[in-house]
Amino acid sequence: MECISDYVFKRMIMKMTLVFATANEHKLTELRDILKDYDIKGLNDVAIYDEIVEDGSTLEENAYIKAKYLFDHTGLPSLSEDTGLEVISLNNAPGVLTARYAGAQKNPDDNIDKLLNELDDSDNRKAQFRTIICYIDKHGVQYFEGVVKGIIAKERKGIAGFGYDPVFIPDGYCKTFAELPSNIKNEISHRARAVERLLEYFK
Ligand code: IMP
Repeated sequence: MECISDYVFKRMIMKMTLVFATANEHKLTELRDILKDYDIKGLNDVAIYDEIVEDGSTLEENAYIKAKYLFDHTGLPSLSEDTGLEVISLNNAPGVLTARYAGAQKNPDDNIDKLLNELDDSDNRKAQFRTIICYIDKHGVQYFEGVVKGIIAKERKGIAGFGYDPVFIPDGYCKTFAELPSNIKNEISHRARAVERLLEYFK
């Protein structure tokens, strides 16, 4: 009689563990919602409390730095992402400096204030969020990109989400990410689109 091995049985019932290089609870919740079939662990779950220095000059470099650090320390399939907000009329700024736009304190309110001041009354408010995911396992390094286009609102609206969500209105909607229900953001966001590509790779 044929029977499946313990190994195959475990693969069928156990979720694959992925370690995600973030301590940001919002990002973890978003990723867990999107990747429901995977066991997503954050930095704190694997007892890494160091701040990983993101001193790359591109989103790709920063994503690699975080995933590599995690893979070297855990040996587990490791995932990281780096996101930039690129505003067309500001020559794609803040880009790689998105988190530190208004200074090293990485304060989201200060960042939004600076962005609204820079844009002032400008009519060209086109922008995009761009995410680069870096995935490292024993087979090597892979990158996946996700983009969502939209415009920067003239004032904050909504309380959901995080970061620049209160001023980002995705194309096709008239509400900011902070006003839209999380299931919509999780379908169309830069992160969701990059994760879709990662899932295609897994399949
Ligand atoms: P990092 O990739 O965590 O370094 O994020 C860079 C910056 O982009 C931070 O200021 C985040 O708050 C912001 N950011 C990343 N993802 C989102 C998002 O989904 N909505 C709004 N802001 C975001």
